[in-house]
Amino acid sequence: MALLLDSRLLLRKVQDLRCFTPRRHRVKGKWAATKTKHPPTSLALQHFDSTYSAQLGQLWPSVRVALLSERKYGALVNNFSHDALLEELEAQGCRDFIAQTDKEVAQPCSRQESEEESSSVSIKESDADVQPLSPLQLSPHIKCLVFPRGDITRFKPARPDVCGLLGYYLMDAASVLPCLGLDVQEGHNVLDLCAAPGGKALALLQTQSIGFLCVNDSSVSRTSRLRKVLNNYAPKQLLTEDKLRITSFDGTKWGEIERNTFDRVLVDVPCTTDRHSVMEDDNSIFSKSRTAERRRLPQLQLELLLAGIQAACPGGEILYSTCTLSQVQNLSVVEQAIYTARENHGIQLQISDLRPLTHMFRKTFHFAPDLHMGEMVIPHLAANFGPIYMCKLRRLT
Ligand code: SAM
Repeated sequence: MALLLDSRLLLRKVQDLRCFTPRRHRVKGKWAATKTKHPPTSLALQHFDSTYSAQLGQLWPSVRVALLSERKYGALVNNFSHDALLEELEAQGCRDFIAQTDKEVAQPCSRQESEEESSSVSIKESDADVQPLSPLQLSPHIKCLVFPRGDITRFKPARPDVCGLLGYYLMDAASVLPCLGLDVQEGHNVLDLCAAPGGKALALLQTQSIGFLCVNDSSVSRTSRLRKVLNNYAPKQLLTEDKLRITSFDGTKWGEIERNTFDRVLVDVPCTTDRHSVMEDDNSIFSKSRTAERRRLPQLQLELLLAGIQAACPGGEILYSTCTLSQVQNLSVVEQAIYTARENHGIQLQISDLRPLTHMFRKTFHFAPDLHMGEMVIPHLAANFGPIYMCKLRRLT
């Protein structure tokens, strides 16, 4: 009897709920009427489906699923903070992927071994203009903690220490790779041409070996965000004019201002930011109003890379990076820059082999196979970092 009453009550509740349904629909209908028919996220996905299925082949469906799923972060430890956060983070189950890498296999194995061992190790198709492998000396000071593969625990927001400096900066852990690949040495003069909001600049500062760092971003609002980030993470004595310069110039013009100057140049260009584009409609490069800007991206990227090349001193190194899978914004830009630098500016460049880096971190990230120029972290559900493309060039003249 009691059971019968309960089920009647339940039925009544369901019927009551049904009464509310039309109201919810009315609200939804109104919202749907103002909703754009083709939101930027679906335009982005359509575009990626057509280009990346051809580019990545059978890899694309799994990369697509990962792109549409929650990304993983890494906690870049702030060495300037007084809090002993490393132990605290480790107690939560994360590990410093840079310290725990296979140091003894810094040199990659032969091409055949690579192919047999793992599809995650990139293989160069043409080694003709690629610099011979040199052992990797990673800065012992850059620490970035990640939760293990398959563990999607989120980091808590960082808290300030007694001096107000935050203990860690949350970023895509794969974004640290271009900074490690840049291989900053003691006393180097470094330019970060497109630096805002500042994650990579912060990682470069963590090396504690930079002689002088110039951080630039053409957007004034983003430059002030960059300034805030630096204030939140770096001590005042590091933010002085003889150690750090913050500018807001059009980076494409840098070659006209300051040539042959920097030992290391990071050119982390604006791109289609693939992960953001499939997840967020706000501020999307795929919105109709930004179509022309999106189409101009490869030209802007080329101009920025050429400016970075000119800003580097002969013997200096330039690292080009993006957060897109697009071949047109990655390899094609680098190829065109190498050609134009030689033909128009008489600058000879050599591609530095980043395989030692990808080999060291093959257990943390998934790398695209078969790129003939540069390396790329591709998103994967078990290690949902990236995309990050990077290619390192060395100025010979
Ligand atoms: N490196 C940054 C970091 O790690 O936080 C991210 C850089 S984001 C991918 C690209 C940046 O390029 C944007 O902040 C954008 O404002 C800047 N940018 C766009 N056009 C530029 C130009 N002509 N010169 C310099 N910066 C530019």
